[in-house]
Amino acid sequence: MNTVYGSYFDTVNSICADCGTDTLEACMQLCDSYERMLSKTIPGSDVWKINHCKGGPVPISPDTRNILECAFRFYQLTEGAFNIALKPLIDVWDIKHRHSLPSEEEITEAMRYLEIDGWELQGDCLIVPNEKAGIDLGGIAKGYIADRIADFLKSEGAASALLNFGGNIVCFGGKPDGSPWKIGLQTPFAPSQAEYFAVTELNEGTVVTSGIYERFFHADGRTYHHIIDPRTGWPSRSGILSASVIGKDSMTADALSTSLLLLGWEKGLKLAEENGYYALCITENGEVHRSEKWNINIIQ
Ligand code: ADP
Ligand code: MG
Repeated sequence: MNTVYGSYFDTVNSICADCGTDTLEACMQLCDSYERMLSKTIPGSDVWKINHCKGGPVPISPDTRNILECAFRFYQLTEGAFNIALKPLIDVWDIKHRHSLPSEEEITEAMRYLEIDGWELQGDCLIVPNEKAGIDLGGIAKGYIADRIADFLKSEGAASALLNFGGNIVCFGGKPDGSPWKIGLQTPFAPSQAEYFAVTELNEGTVVTSGIYERFFHADGRTYHHIIDPRTGWPSRSGILSASVIGKDSMTADALSTSLLLLGWEKGLKLAEENGYYALCITENGEVHRSEKWNINIIQ
């Protein structure tokens, strides 16, 4: 087995697979091209063009289209809670740089531009409804990319691999010794990222975790994190600290894990299960709620 690390999508990514280092380097090249396609901040990316076109049709790649189709489906499934057209509001919250709360005026102004209805896929183009509208694929793109890189590894003949894209795990083939991969779920707000409260075994598929404990700031004695509820304009207050989803494809699991943090554990678990996935949530009062069929070992 060989391992490669790379810094993409605002996180650290690792790939461990039974293939040559040249194939792993090619995977990192693919990550680089996906970042150039989907990043909000790299000029010339599909997302950058969408966000700077001032309204109207924008030509997009087939990959971007695939992600948008799934994202629009999740908008419907979550009744508007999962909304990639949230960029105006995400810019106001700017969790990475902010240390104080935005004003109600800023939030109200941004909320005028979150309507998904004007967005439309037409041939190879996306129709952007107006000058202020914009998208952010942070809640879904990493899952899609991880799926594509796993496909690439398989096409290059790898029989066994584990990919970790900042909390999006994709694996196939089990470990080379024939045992399944063991995937730990990180304890929210623990001093070390290597502290796990649960371990699940998986030969092939994905486990995606979203949490409020990695990107946040404190103000007025509260934690303000990076998953924003378009219905209120504020970081979601579903009471969930962390949500993990296990299943077949990582893009769906990524959209689901973000959706769970918005919907709360009851609706969230139901949504995951209806789509053929299992989920587990930890709440702020320390409860663990999970799909009964997920055979997972809770350590604590
Ligand atoms: P991470 O990428 O940090 O592991 P997530 O997959 O949960 O975690 O994605 C969080 C990201 O999703 C945010 O940084 C932002 O880009 C985007 N986002 C925030 N709120 C929403 C929302 N309501 N709907 C869709 N995407 C969102
Ligand atoms: Mg997500």
